[in-house]
Amino acid sequence: ELLSNKIAAGEVVERPASVVKELVENAIDADSTSIEITLEEAGLSKIQVTDNGKGMDADDALKSFSRHATSKITTEHDLFRIRSLGFRGEALASIASVSKISLWTSNGENIGSKVELEGGRVISNTPGPIRRGTDIVVSQLFYNTPARLKYLKTIQTELGHSIDLINRLAISYPGIAFKLTHNQQTIMQTSGRGDLKQVLAAIYGISNVKKMVAFDNDSSDFRISGFATLPEITRASKNYITVLVNGRWVKHYGINNAIVDSYHTLLPIGRYPIVVLNIEMDPILTDVNVHPAKHQIRLSKEKELMELVRITIRSIMHRVQK
Ligand code: ADP
Ligand code: MG
Repeated sequence: ELLSNKIAAGEVVERPASVVKELVENAIDADSTSIEITLEEAGLSKIQVTDNGKGMDADDALKSFSRHATSKITTEHDLFRIRSLGFRGEALASIASVSKISLWTSNGENIGSKVELEGGRVISNTPGPIRRGTDIVVSQLFYNTPARLKYLKTIQTELGHSIDLINRLAISYPGIAFKLTHNQQTIMQTSGRGDLKQVLAAIYGISNVKKMVAFDNDSSDFRISGFATLPEITRASKNYITVLVNGRWVKHYGINNAIVDSYHTLLPIGRYPIVVLNIEMDPILTDVNVHPAKHQIRLSKEKELMELVRITIRSIMHRVQK
């Protein structure tokens, strides 16, 4: 099993940000309202995720590192009907096989537990304090798979992946307080008070957010809402366009284009707006089986949606231009 975990790790654990993603999604699935992410050397020497979620009892803490030991729903046919983010039960096993892990967890009722692993092997398992939540430290990532280390980019690039990820999760979950720290420096922090505009201010800066306009509109099958910057605030990359479908971040080339398109000639060439677009729809109109992990989706009635996006953003831009 150790070997197959290591092979699976090659798919799940591509870079430090993949570990951060799995750990933070677990914290979200555990109904946490506060999640702290602490990185050292972009996560290569240390990734720590501390949550105040429902935790695990001693049995489950140990089991969480065996493959396919998911406590979550296993119907994969429609991710958008599943509330939880993880569903395959292999992330922790994979991560453990290529790092050193120390997990402390407690459900707040029974005595907590502390489990330590090295390269997927449990090296200690002891009782811990009772305090609801989970604290997991992943250190020396890829220490036993040196080939993987060679594929990594610079610290700055790897850190950038984690920052983008946490920003997207903070936007998707304004009710959770996120804090991201790198080499003792706070990179971003949200209040968890549920206000999307506050989250955007924490990420993009208050002055930029002051130049964002709220929108809200619907058609027969879709409801869209969000914020879009005025054309004077632009970025050199499309990375600042965030699209959520039923609360979940997705990559959709067509929707992104529709957003950029709606600014029409207002944007300088090569410049893009900052936009958050929330789309609510019947999950029956989505097909995430394209590649759930890559966040790609296929939509029926795509034309109707893109038209709604174009009309909505275009009309607010024209309104404020006057
Ligand atoms: P999955 O998320 O797909 O179920 P994982 O390997 O990521 O698989 O996690 C295995 C199990 O460990 C989860 O199903 C969950 O029961 C438990 N778990 C992991 N992280 C946490 C956490 N932060 N809080 C509570 N339970 C957790
Ligand atoms: Mg998981």
